[in-house]
Amino acid sequence: MNYHIECGRHSGIPECCINWFIGPWSSVRIFGWVWTLYWRENNKDVDVKYIRCLECIKGSVVMDIKECDCESG
Ligand SMILES: [Zn+2]
Ligand SMILES: [Zn+2]
Repeated sequence: MNYHIECGRHSGIPECCINWFIGPWSSVRIFGWVWTLYWRENNKDVDVKYIRCLECIKGSVVMDIKECDCESG
């Protein structure tokens, strides 16, 4: 099971970012320069612990992610 999809929901990652992760993100990671650009943008806000969609990056939306207990339980 993909952590970012299933446990992403449990952890409070917004649906828009999950959709971004399962959709366009897969093509972003193919291109090195886009990847670099992406991370520079994603990390311009503090404490980002997940892959954000472009809308959330633009709006500086950072959710407080809580640890889901699927793994430990
Ligand atoms: Zn979970
Ligand atoms: Zn988002």
